[in-house]
Amino acid sequence: MYIYLNNKLVAEPEAVVSVYDHGFLYGDGIYETMRAYKGTVFMSERHIERLGRSASLLKLKIPDKKNIMHSVHKTLDANKLSEAYIRITVSRGKGPVGLDPALCKEPSFVVFAEKFREYPAAYYRDGVRLIIAKTRRNFIGALDPRIKSLNFLNNIIAKMEAKERGAYEAVMLNPQGFIAEGTISNIFFVKDEMLCTPSVEAGILDGITREIVIDLAKKNGLRVREGLFSQEDIFKATEVFFTNTTSEVMPVSMVEDRTYEIGKITQRLRRLYKEEVKRYLKKTADSK
Ligand code: PLP
Repeated sequence: MYIYLNNKLVAEPEAVVSVYDHGFLYGDGIYETMRAYKGTVFMSERHIERLGRSASLLKLKIPDKKNIMHSVHKTLDANKLSEAYIRITVSRGKGPVGLDPALCKEPSFVVFAEKFREYPAAYYRDGVRLIIAKTRRNFIGALDPRIKSLNFLNNIIAKMEAKERGAYEAVMLNPQGFIAEGTISNIFFVKDEMLCTPSVEAGILDGITREIVIDLAKKNGLRVREGLFSQEDIFKATEVFFTNTTSEVMPVSMVEDRTYEIGKITQRLRRLYKEEVKRYLKKTADSK
């Protein structure tokens, strides 16, 4: 495998960063995950924009959009990938011990990509199980979840809770006890034929898949509500699913001990999302 490190492609064994990198020492850095379909990076402009937002909230210097996409495409080409998972990581870089970002002269910039591994078809057919984690999502005033940062410890602890309890993903509540999001996903549910999802104010990473699903739902005549929701709301729902770049629309069959059908709205949105991907690929091909 070839990895893009700083300004060049290197073979995987040489793709190393210093133990003095502040990403390693303090989690001082950001990342993005993207998915390529048939060689086209889906919604690349939105992902790069979000990376830019994370960077500016941390006053982290990143390459410009054109250079980032150039490095992504170089990485895909070098590894002959067309269906791919792509991760961009930017850390504060190497510097002496100490929290001050000014100690680091240059950020470390890494892009790697792997062949996309499809999720088992049974997940989409039968749905997956979620728990509600004891571990809370970040308090916005401490570490704003809109920063896709290298600090994911509470999400990792929540994921461990899910695994220990035999579930696939954990729903995290915010510090006030309202539903926030999954450990790497956004949560949706259907109640009284209304598509509901926690609003950004609940303390979430505003997922790009979430945004697309909300738009598709509205364009297709579904009622959508973004707001603050309790666990009770999800237990009273008729359908639940979660979204992210790699899973797209993933149906949920169970939250704690409450079961759900893989309902019509979930199936419809999953189909509409797939069509949106196709539309994007066509539009991108037409503009080349
Ligand atoms: N929320 C969190 C905490 C995430 O880590 C992710 C994705 O990794 C998402 C939501 C979903 O975001 P997206 O749809 O942009 O992949």
